[in-house]
Amino acid sequence: MAGQDIQISIIVPLFNEEQVIQESYERIKRVIEHTGKAYEIIFVNDGSTDKTEELANKICNNDSHVKLLSFSRNFGHQMAITAGMDHACGMAVIVIDADLQDPPEVIIEMIKEWENGYDVVYGKRIKRKGETFFKKATASIFYRVLKHMTDVEIPVDTGDFRLIDRNVCNYLKSLPERNRYVRGLISWLGFKQTGVEFIREERFAGETKYSLKKMMKFSADAITSFSYKPLKIATFLGTTVSILSFVYLIIILYKKLLTHITISGESFIIAACLLMNGLVLIVLGIIGEYIGRIYDESKGRPLYIIKDKEGYDNVTEDKSND
Ligand code: UDP
Ligand code: MG
Repeated sequence: MAGQDIQISIIVPLFNEEQVIQESYERIKRVIEHTGKAYEIIFVNDGSTDKTEELANKICNNDSHVKLLSFSRNFGHQMAITAGMDHACGMAVIVIDADLQDPPEVIIEMIKEWENGYDVVYGKRIKRKGETFFKKATASIFYRVLKHMTDVEIPVDTGDFRLIDRNVCNYLKSLPERNRYVRGLISWLGFKQTGVEFIREERFAGETKYSLKKMMKFSADAITSFSYKPLKIATFLGTTVSILSFVYLIIILYKKLLTHITISGESFIIAACLLMNGLVLIVLGIIGEYIGRIYDESKGRPLYIIKDKEGYDNVTEDKSND
């Protein structure tokens, strides 16, 4: 099918999803066929170590609507989405998780809103089923902290499950940053945005592929990409402690020189030193988070490496190697 005929591209990132890929494919296909629009489904295999690639290949060989991009290793969810967008040809591009937590049926509503003239239609989770208290609580805190830290209007409780217009996708492709928080970048771009509400279902099978480490990297990327507030907090902490220490010093000097009170209390001094050192380390750590990211950007490495493409007759230009 010629690229320009495709109306809807659906991007499905996959990391060790052998248990869900078939069901996910069938449900997405059923929904999109129902709309009667020309479509493509782009599976992005993010370095899976199970049978995901083999299964995706099989689906791809039996269905000309399906394409497969396979990474050379695990580059992460945000990179998988990015690669999918770089290769999508549709006039609207939809990102959906493979595990059916984002119900494919919501796509129909998203397309309706797009046809009503919206450029971005994000899915807003009004309820999350089958996730641990820890996951729900940390996610809820994260979205609200991020909202307070940045001037960019990033809607709370929305994930990457969304539809974007071709125009938005093209602009997104032109943003070169490596530590990508895709949904934040989409908000930053602006355009006419709206949300459709949905209930986030339980995972169809398998377990979350977002380890605690990945979640921490993800939230640090989001905050550092869209806010300088942590640096400002660092400066504020430093300044406050310096002023307090200075006042304290004056009091001690006053007591020592002008009164007969004896000054003692080594333990207090040790505690004060530890507090100061702790603060200095926190501040250095915060600055380090930013410097590390500047370093990442300056290396100019490709965002991801694709080892295999299936379903592409003429290999499209690969942005990753720009
Ligand atoms: N995923 C990915 N690379 C990763 C982690 C996750 O492509 O390194 C995919 C995963 O296969 C799924 C989606 O991203 O399609 C969301 O991941 P998951 O459902 O594990 O996250 P959660 O819903 O628990 O936040
Ligand atoms: Mg999930």
